[in-house]
Amino acid sequence: MQLRRNAPQAGPTGPDDHLAGRPSWDCRSCGRPWPCHPVRERMTSEMDRVSLAIYMWTNLEEAIHDIPRGPVSDLFDRFIRWTH
Ligand SMILES: [Zn+2]
Repeated sequence: MQLRRNAPQAGPTGPDDHLAGRPSWDCRSCGRPWPCHPVRERMTSEMDRVSLAIYMWTNLEEAIHDIPRGPVSDLFDRFIRWTH
């Protein structure tokens, strides 16, 4: 019988996951502002533009709650602009 590895989402994260740290929204792997370059590359290759834009809008809305200071335009550039 073959063991299947379905890693749970809440499990320990690997060094290549590049998940967003909360509430700073810095990458937990490389410490850069999320979404960092590896995340953008991966999502661009795995998702179509519409899905990607929707996904990033969802993250942007959460980030605005976590990072209330600072201009929203900065967050827009960071989360949305590169998806176009
Ligand atoms: Zn990263």
